[in-house]
Amino acid sequence: MKIFSILFSLIIISLSANSQKPKSVSTKPKLVVGIVIDQMRWDYLYRFQPLFKSNGGFKRMMNSGFSCDNTMVPYAPTVTACGHTCIYTGSVPNIHGIVGNNWWDKSLNKLAYCTEDRSIEGVGNTKGDAGKMSPRNMLVTTISDELRLATNFKSKVIGVAIKDRGAILPAGHSANAAYWYDKGTGSFISSSYYMKELPTWLNEFNKRKLVDSFYRLGWNIQLSKETYLNYCTDDVKPYEYNAFEDSRPGFPYNNLSKFINKDYSKIISTPYGNTLTAEVAKAILINEKMGKGAETDFLAISFSSPDYVGHSFGPNSWELLDCYIKLDDELGKLFDALDKQVGVSNYISFLTADHAVAHIPAFMQEHKLPGGTFDDNVEKNEINKQLKGQFAIDTAILSFENYQLTINKKSIQLSGIDEQKIVNWIINYLKQNEAILNVFELNKLMGTPMNNTIKERLANGYFENRSGDIQVILKSGYIDGMKTGTTHGLWNPYDAHIPLLWYGWGIKKGSTHKETYMTDIAATLAALLNIQMPSGCIGKVIEDVLK
Ligand code: ZN
Ligand code: ZN
Repeated sequence: MKIFSILFSLIIISLSANSQKPKSVSTKPKLVVGIVIDQMRWDYLYRFQPLFKSNGGFKRMMNSGFSCDNTMVPYAPTVTACGHTCIYTGSVPNIHGIVGNNWWDKSLNKLAYCTEDRSIEGVGNTKGDAGKMSPRNMLVTTISDELRLATNFKSKVIGVAIKDRGAILPAGHSANAAYWYDKGTGSFISSSYYMKELPTWLNEFNKRKLVDSFYRLGWNIQLSKETYLNYCTDDVKPYEYNAFEDSRPGFPYNNLSKFINKDYSKIISTPYGNTLTAEVAKAILINEKMGKGAETDFLAISFSSPDYVGHSFGPNSWELLDCYIKLDDELGKLFDALDKQVGVSNYISFLTADHAVAHIPAFMQEHKLPGGTFDDNVEKNEINKQLKGQFAIDTAILSFENYQLTINKKSIQLSGIDEQKIVNWIINYLKQNEAILNVFELNKLMGTPMNNTIKERLANGYFENRSGDIQVILKSGYIDGMKTGTTHGLWNPYDAHIPLLWYGWGIKKGSTHKETYMTDIAATLAALLNIQMPSGCIGKVIEDVLK
């Protein structure tokens, strides 16, 4: 009798021990899915939360995953190329070299684009420059490169986005492929850096011409009019950019079919840009058998359209809200596809942004909040005109990119006037502008009396050959732009505070308000995957996230 009861309890113990082991969860994830929402502010997660669906993407990640609610971009300028590079390298422009989308290259003496590469050819479109792209300007490895290294290049890594830089920089140097949208043809393309020709499945995807069917559908709001009135400014405002060249802008945008065969760039400023990205991502998943091999694969997706919608209409617009309602649906469907592809809990997904965005200055002023505009092109031309008139210097300023002016040392030298005198003149001239908080020489950054956070972020953003000579910092709420729309780019929380959600394999449920940084993402992924950190990584593992 006693033996019988011992046996019985042993069976119970072994049964319960077995039931604690999660079924069909592997010792390493089958897939990592990086999701960047271009220009997403952290506060959207909470501002729009009542409107997000329980089976949508955001709530699924927030309810079952981990949210780092105080994640900051640790450098300036807060722009797309730097953001995507920082997320995937755990590094800053001072080390990885991507100091902007564009920069004045001092060694080449010309304006450079972050992913341009004239040594190669476009694949899928050989005509223009849209395909002449590679990650060669990025000077360090990405977490996706490190995954390839760790598995003797057996892990498959693919990047995809509407923007070339949103696909290329995350995928890294050793990627199997990166695909981006060609505004000229309405197709997804690549370059000879990765392949000789597009895979058959992508040619077939492109042949479907989804863009045309989206143009035909037009763009209308998904929820009731009252919802948008409740959450946003009135639909039509003079400070919104007329993105679709309408005589009477505002919802419904029923006139998009006029762009069929004429202009394939307009789709990117609508939620359809996200649908297109999600569709091609799902096609990659299936056709490239992502997560089906022996090693962990990596799919890096960037949704570029929220950036275009945000720039044109601003964070308080109907267009922006509708974009996020529909993106929530797309993300939910993407997770459904991932569950089907590799199984629930067999993949890690993280969601973040490359930077956030400021409110439209005229909207701020409408509500008695500080803000205004500053036009770097107008200022550059005016300075060059005045220095030509006063000192006979030709093109004293070569470029005004990323809130930095590059001076023309050669031309100043030719004039025989002391360079410091001209630099002082430029600084004094700019100091009179009401939009400017501070302006100083970048090589005197550390000696300039200024808040340490700003100083540290500027130092992190500085790379000698690719940065300017004079730094401009705008007052809070001021943007580099004109009368309509908005932008991002400086150190302020509205530009630098980004969402960071973790979900799936190895991820704890919860949230933290501890200060974390964009640079910590790659470090945390390296810890989750038990692989080396990228070669320029300065981030720290966010231990709270790990199970
Ligand atoms: Zn961006
Ligand atoms: Zn942008």
